[in-house]
Amino acid sequence: MDSNSNSKSNFNVAHIKLCTQTEGPFKRCCIWFQGCDLKCPGCCNEFLQALVPNHIMSLESLLEVIAKAKEDFDIEGITLSGGEPILQKGLPLLLEHVQTMGLGIILFSGRSMASISPEIVSRVDLLIDGPFIQEKLDTERVLLGSTNKGLHFITERYKAQEGYFHNHIAIEEITLGTDYLFINGD
Ligand code: SF4
Repeated sequence: MDSNSNSKSNFNVAHIKLCTQTEGPFKRCCIWFQGCDLKCPGCCNEFLQALVPNHIMSLESLLEVIAKAKEDFDIEGITLSGGEPILQKGLPLLLEHVQTMGLGIILFSGRSMASISPEIVSRVDLLIDGPFIQEKLDTERVLLGSTNKGLHFITERYKAQEGYFHNHIAIEEITLGTDYLFINGD
């Protein structure tokens, strides 16, 4: 199985951070999916490009994890990154459930907004789109990587937080597990 052949109820997950403050405004649960077919040179998550199974999680278990993050950390929303989240066939269903939980949704995609299905775009509050282009390194905005990447406020939910991406001081979070070290942020 590769991450393109997953069913609508299974997700190929690389990593989950229950609560982070470096993947968008407010406290967020961040999910990194495994697999990306764009292969941008200079990709900061190169190890997430391979289209191979990583942690295969059902929709129900993913929702349980998000609910736990809400209960334990009072997260404001989720951030979906990768890898390429839109390769997950069940993404619209996941987004629909997360919306009913009252959580905000930020989606990072290497695709352009125009090429992403409306059933995904319409369920997201903030879409950050476009591939990473090494020659267009963004030294002003945080988290976005390159200047070609767009910030699309699909709803008003994060409009007032636009400054986060322009004025925020870039920070990294380090998670030390028993057999791994995970660094996220900018
Ligand atoms: S779209 Fe993102 S994850 Fe995919 S190769 Fe480009 S930078 Fe890496």
